[in-house]
Amino acid sequence: MSNQKPIYVTQPYLPPLEDFYPYLQKIWDNKILTNGGPFHQQLEKALCEHLGVEHLALFSNGTLALVTALQALRVTGEVITTPYSFVATAHSLLWNGIKPVFVDVDPNTFNLDPAQIEAAITPHTTAIMPVHCYGNPCNVEAIQKIADNYNLRVIYDAAHAFGVRANGSSILRHGDLSVLSFHATKVFNTFEGGAIICPDAKTKQRIDHLKNFGFVDELTVVAPGINGKMSEINAAFGMLQLEHVDKAIARRGEIDRLYRDLLAEVPGISCVGNAGQEVSNHSYFPVLVNDEFPLKRDALYQVLKEQGIVARRYFYPLISDFPMYRGLPSAHRENLPVATWVAQRVLCLPIYPNLDNSDVERIAAIIAECGK
Ligand SMILES: *Cc1c(COP(=O)(O)O)cnc(C)c1O
Repeated sequence: MSNQKPIYVTQPYLPPLEDFYPYLQKIWDNKILTNGGPFHQQLEKALCEHLGVEHLALFSNGTLALVTALQALRVTGEVITTPYSFVATAHSLLWNGIKPVFVDVDPNTFNLDPAQIEAAITPHTTAIMPVHCYGNPCNVEAIQKIADNYNLRVIYDAAHAFGVRANGSSILRHGDLSVLSFHATKVFNTFEGGAIICPDAKTKQRIDHLKNFGFVDELTVVAPGINGKMSEINAAFGMLQLEHVDKAIARRGEIDRLYRDLLAEVPGISCVGNAGQEVSNHSYFPVLVNDEFPLKRDALYQVLKEQGIVARRYFYPLISDFPMYRGLPSAHRENLPVATWVAQRVLCLPIYPNLDNSDVERIAAIIAECGK
């Protein structure tokens, strides 16, 4: 064990504390703490502009936003989704009494494989919930084509995809709804937070009702809504973060390139994703520990940990291996060979704006040493 502080896979980005005081002063002055106050309104507008989307509803976290997105579209029955994600993706289905149907991922992107979706459709299927894993865009055209053919809704879990663009526009403009997370570990954070992106004002209004108990006005409740509202303190912090996010993503990009350079010559380690492409937000830095590497993934994870570097096995175990899912027919490993293969080999290395180049060099050197 080294004497240095451990380096975690991510560290939240925090602007200078004194920069936040004026925001707090405003909240203390006007005494509006929540319920769609001025910062909530400002942040919704600012994020629409920043992301290049039409309508956005803020939430207290991404999971409640996912749960509410399914409610907003009245999704029922079965939903096709990926086993290779954070567990909240499928949990949002169970919270709505929906049966998840797992489909395997594409071996290059680790996103839901469109070629395998059709075979999983039954008369009970009503929607598809793909994930833009690590912020790498799904094959949105192929997915939309299937959805149109079978009259299915598409809700993207876009928790990793803040600011991601493809073909000149936001990746969040695809499907019926997209859901972001602003959790502390994400590229853009409001401590806790999330949002639903939707294409029209009417859907946004329904979502706004649903996140506020179903209230339309003082006396009218139109739906069994939840309390999913973002508070003023989180929204204010989001306004401050937004000034820094481009710079933070640019720094992540530098770290991404440095890792790729340093690991390029290490046999058995392959870097995943879009090197240097404009689409990435560099939210994660996953590598695959292939079979020709002298150590297994878990052994490398352990060596790094002993040196004070806490990498993470995102995503292992697969969602489909957790007890509340593994009894489903679609959860069998034979149905999910690619996801199973990747989950056993993936390791996400530390990446965040305040990570020093010297730390990236040290991490790469430890991996290279293990590879000898
Ligand atoms: C973080 C995350 C969520 C959950 O978001 P919270 O804001 O933590 O509730 C959902 N899906 C994916 C893929 C995530 O990474």
